[in-house]
Amino acid sequence: MATAPTPKPSTTAATFAVVAVIAALVAGGLWWVRNDDDSASAGADEASSGSAGGPSATDGAPDDDGSGEGRGDGSDGDPGLGETAEDIASQGFPDDPRVVVVSVDGLGSAWVSKQTTPTIADLFLHGAGTLNARTEVEKTVTLPNHTGMVTGRRVVAALGGHGVTWNHTSTRSVAPGTESVFSVIDAAGGSSAVYAGKEKFEMWGRAWPDTMHGPEIMTNQTALVVMAIDDLHQHDRDLTFVHLAGPDSAGHEFGWGSAQYNDAVTEADADIDRLITAIADDEELSEEVVVIVTADHGGVPGTTRHLDRTRSENYTIPFVVWGPGVSTGDLYALNPDYRDPGQEQPGYRGPQPVRNGDVANLVTDLLGLGPVPGSELDAEQDLDVDGR
Ligand SMILES: [Zn+2]
Repeated sequence: MATAPTPKPSTTAATFAVVAVIAALVAGGLWWVRNDDDSASAGADEASSGSAGGPSATDGAPDDDGSGEGRGDGSDGDPGLGETAEDIASQGFPDDPRVVVVSVDGLGSAWVSKQTTPTIADLFLHGAGTLNARTEVEKTVTLPNHTGMVTGRRVVAALGGHGVTWNHTSTRSVAPGTESVFSVIDAAGGSSAVYAGKEKFEMWGRAWPDTMHGPEIMTNQTALVVMAIDDLHQHDRDLTFVHLAGPDSAGHEFGWGSAQYNDAVTEADADIDRLITAIADDEELSEEVVVIVTADHGGVPGTTRHLDRTRSENYTIPFVVWGPGVSTGDLYALNPDYRDPGQEQPGYRGPQPVRNGDVANLVTDLLGLGPVPGSELDAEQDLDVDGR
């Protein structure tokens, strides 16, 4: 909190920080309780209710930013990373940063909690995040949103988007001239790798050939993460992008909020724990790696679908950044120029909510590179997550 960038006089900033900490403690405490209740009721309601009784993303996300718990209370029986996460975050921002992006396919914000996702919860506790981030406006499906994450573009090509409107393996590619974090990093002499759980990600390799290792595609999620960890140890990548498919697959088969879906969420969290622990246990990685965790879309409780882009359960997603030098707090509090969208999905005009498409230019910003050419989302690179 004290490292949050602010143009205000120091007394104002100090007052703000104190108020923010108090507010965060109150809101944060309530948030966990409420989400834990949601996750508990999700299982109980599974058989009896498909709609009204299930967990509600709209309850979970808007006014309770989730990131809210202040630092200092991470050691009280924390099942996740606990003090390690705090120690790493308290370091200075790295001179030679590396970024790991983890996208959890189908992880709506309603399913992020200390009980269901202890590792992600720890990243929220010791990083900068919000449970009220947004997907692309036009689509709440996998490939359009992931392509937004790496291009910083909206979807519709005629309006400057990346053009990926489909969500299956195909021979098509991005709109002509669409650049990505991979092409920017490659042009700067850097290196990226992609590990994905679905075949359709092969498109990225055709869209931006020779700019990344992979995409390595494997349906065994844990094996995929282990492969990504090996790569982190062996190569000095600037960016490693990891896509975890488990929750989406379970959601399509058994329903969002089903016992099987909840298990898949917990497994995804455990795989993130594997990744974070590998980073934390390595002296160099723990000093250099900034981690971003987000999702492509959520899903409607009690259904096997997430197509309806007007439903908050589909467009409300987590977005959290953690690592050396990264601030602790709510992303909207840290970024007053951004618009907390409440329960809405704002269009692309006017002040923007934090979107998963902000990943592209947050990554370039963290790496000290300019924005992705042609990008629109956070093209000014003003999403601040650290005290620089
Ligand atoms: Zn899906």
